[in-house]
Order: sequence, then C-alpha cells, then structure tokens
Amino acid sequence: QGPDDFYTMAAHDKLHGGLLVEGFGQESCRSRYQSAAYRRNPGRRPSEHLVSRLRRQEARQRRCGPGTAAYRDALEQLKSGKNAAAAAAPSPPECKYLVSISYRGLGNRLLAAASAFLYALLTGRTLLVDPSAETDSLFCEPFPNTTWLLPPGFPFALWSLYIDTPERYGKMRESGALRPPGVASGGSPAAAAGTPTPPAFAYIHLDYNQTDHDKLFFCDEDQRLLSGFQWLVLRTDSYIVPGFFLLETFREELDALFPERDAVFHHLGRYLFHPANHVWGLVTRYYHAHLAWARRRVGIQVRVFPWEPDSPELLGRITRCTQEEGLLPRVVDTEEEPAGRGVKSSAVLITSLKAWYYEQVKGMYWEKAAAGGEVVVVSQPSHEEFQHYGLRSHEYKAWAEIFLLSLTDALVTTGKSTFGYVAQGLAGMRPWVLPPNQANGTAGHGRPCTRGVSVEPCFHTAPPYDCKSRRDSGETVPHVRHCEDVPTGLQLV
Ligand code: GDP
Repeated sequence: QGPDDFYTMAAHDKLHGGLLVEGFGQESCRSRYQSAAYRRNPGRRPSEHLVSRLRRQEARQRRCGPGTAAYRDALEQLKSGKNAAAAAAPSPPECKYLVSISYRGLGNRLLAAASAFLYALLTGRTLLVDPSAETDSLFCEPFPNTTWLLPPGFPFALWSLYIDTPERYGKMRESGALRPPGVASGGSPAAAAGTPTPPAFAYIHLDYNQTDHDKLFFCDEDQRLLSGFQWLVLRTDSYIVPGFFLLETFREELDALFPERDAVFHHLGRYLFHPANHVWGLVTRYYHAHLAWARRRVGIQVRVFPWEPDSPELLGRITRCTQEEGLLPRVVDTEEEPAGRGVKSSAVLITSLKAWYYEQVKGMYWEKAAAGGEVVVVSQPSHEEFQHYGLRSHEYKAWAEIFLLSLTDALVTTGKSTFGYVAQGLAGMRPWVLPPNQANGTAGHGRPCTRGVSVEPCFHTAPPYDCKSRRDSGETVPHVRHCEDVPTGLQLV
C-alpha cells in the first residue's frame, strides 16, 4: 500500500456528514479533508439542524467579520463607549460580537473556544478569538472566506480584562448598574428604567474566582440583559456548555441541534479544530511510523505535573487498567512463541510530560512475553518535562499529541484533565478514566480505572444551583449530571 492508496482506501466521509463544507483550499490546510481517512471510527452524524445552523453561522461570520463595513461600524461604536442599543439608533445593530479570550493550557483553550462558538451560534453573534495564544499557527481557519481571529485595532488589551474591570457583568449586576429588564423592556439593558446607561460592552468573567454575580450568566433573565450588548467579551478556560443546557432560553434550540446530548463537543471539535499544516506533519509522520500498522491502537494519556515524583502506584493502575479491561494483553511468566507474521499486534501511544511511565510499560512488554505471543509496541512522541505557555514548538507537540490520541481505538485518560477530554471528544469515544493523580497518589476506590459515562468533557466550575428553583444543578434537567472525576462539575450524558 503506497501513500496515495491510504487516502482513497477507506470509504471515509471527509466532510463528516455535512459538518464541513467543500471549497477550502486543500494545500493551506491539509488536515481538514484528510483527517477522516485516519479515523477507523467514523464518529457520530450531525443533525440536519446543526448542519443548517453551521452554514448560517458561516454566512454571519462573513457578513459581520473583520474587513466588513458592519465590523468597522461596530468597532466605532465600541470605541465611543456608548451602548449600541441605548444609543438612539433607529434599529438594533445587525451584527453582534463575542470575543473569546484564550488563556491556560491547550486543552482548556480548546474547550473554551468550542463553548464560545456554541454561545455565539445560539445568540446570533459573530465569534472572534484571541490571537495571542498561537491560535493562528496551531489551527486552520474554521470559517470559509473570513477570519475568526480578532484583528489588531481592538480598543482593549484582552489580558487586561479581569475581575476589577468596571464593565464586568457580575460587577454591574452587583452594583445595580444593570438590572433585569422586568416586563416590557424587550431585552434592552437601556430599557431597564432607572438604571444608568450601560457601557458599550460587557465583560463576562468566568474564571476560577468568579463571584455569585458572575454566575448569573447561567440565568435566563440575565441572558435577556446580555442580549442587549452589541459586544461581549468572554473569559473562561472551561467547557461551559452544560451550563447552556440549564437555561430555558436555549433549551429548544439545543435539543434540535444536538439530539444526541453526549456528542456536543464531538461535533463542535471536529468542526472547529483542524491542525495547521505544520502540526499535521507531526501527526501524520508519527501516525505512519508508529500506529498505522497496528491491528489495535491504544492511547494512554498520563497527566502528571512537573513537581510530582514518578508514581509506582499510578503505573500499577495503568497496567492493571489496560490488562484487566482487555485493552492490552496480559504479560505472562512463560516464554511464548512470537506469533510471527499476521500476528495480532498492538501499538500503544503514551502521552505524558515525563518519560518514566512509557519506559516502564515498554520495558514490561520486552522483559516479559505477552499472552499468546502478541506483539506490543509502546511509544511516546515527547516528554516535555515542564509546561510552557506561548512556546510554539511546545504547543505544536501538545496539539499533535491530543490529535494522535484521538486516532486510537481505545483511550485511557487521566480524570479531570482537559487534554484528555479533547482527545476523547474528537474521537467520539468514552474513555477508561484513571483517577486524577493527586499529590498523595492514593486510590479512591479499588478498581484501577472506570469507564467514562460520556464522551463529553466535564464543566469544572459549574454553577451549583439552578437559578429559579435553587435546586442542585446536577438534578434539574435530564442529560446534565455531576461528573465522576469532578463531583461538583457538570457533564452532558
Ligand atoms: P490539563 O491541565 O490537563 O487540563 O490540560 P491543558 O492542555 O489545559 O494544560 C496542560 C498543558 O501541559 C498542555 O497544554 C501542554 O502544554 C502540557 N502537557 C501536559 N501533558 C502533556 C503531554 O502529555 N504532552 C505534551 N506534549 N504536553 C503536555
């Protein structure tokens, strides 16, 4: 089989059931139409409604995005400091915007960007993402004939927007500068009688130190208030999507978009995140060298922190999990005859900041035979030792490794890690989850790992209560439950 056969071999659907459109240049982004050929599992089909709403969003991004007259006008309005709906304009602005701030590790950034995209789609806004975090060199443009990168000339440095920003939504709600519109206000913050004129934008602060007033974002009447702002700037590093399902405002639309609630990130991720050519080179070279030949590919994501000592306890969990769950053959004390050509062979892809776990697993399958003489080849693309922020080569490797994990047939992940969430979501697979490797490394329960209940990522900093009934947010709507790896978090199932 030559390299060209590879792309024609499988009857793969390069557009993922209509999720993607034809017409992008192939050379500028090879991964976009090639990636389907690398997946054995074709993934879930998007609903027709989702496909039609994606096309509508793409048209909106072109109509309102950077370089258009609408964008210039909106930027002028923002610079004026005056709220567009409050200004005595004859009609509400045609284009509204959501700017998404990118920060923290790559997994976090991907989950946040997917969440921001869905929020923009639900609220009829144009999404613009923060270009500061290597976004342009890691990803291809997701929308045809426009850009999703916030261009230079934006009046604020995004990093400077934080908890003390006067336009912070929670702060304006706390001080009374913004109040729910009450009955006949039509959603415009300007119409809330007796309140001062709202500013040109609202900054939504959903970082770990968010206050109860910031959490009002997940309440229906606050969504009405927010709809009156032409510009919203969102800071989150979380997968806030389960929170949208708590809102009546979006429920009907979300039901139509995602009849399979556990495939939301699966669709959004495959739609938005295409590795840029350089990253795709890392993915495909590694794939052909280490994974392509295997009958069975197993991905193991070992999330450890630079300061943690190597943990024999965690290693034991990894080997027990993969062998007891039947993902990899057991090692035996007898000498097995290697099963020769055509033998069932497994490729194990380990990703981690450290090399120790890989060396141990590789050594184990060398020093002892695998049951049935099966051939097990273990590899690890990199061991970066430390987390770096904004270092291009490091970010490239992280993104390539997340993507490679998503190309395996079975996935073992470390609980709580957004790196693993993205891999499982892109793959559309429920992982086997190792408990988060807390500093003391002790077991939570007897089993080495548990099967994840959903493909969906967990929303770590979820609102604890439903706004109206004040009931536990994990018990208010079907399909939104507390996560197994983060009990206060919320997950779609
Ligand atoms: P989380 O902290 O586990 O939720 O995942 P994030 O992706 O948000 O942040 C961890 C960051 O550490 C990654 O983005 C990488 O920069 C780095 N990192 C952690 N584990 C790995 C790994 O296995 N491989 C590589 N290349 N980088 C890693």
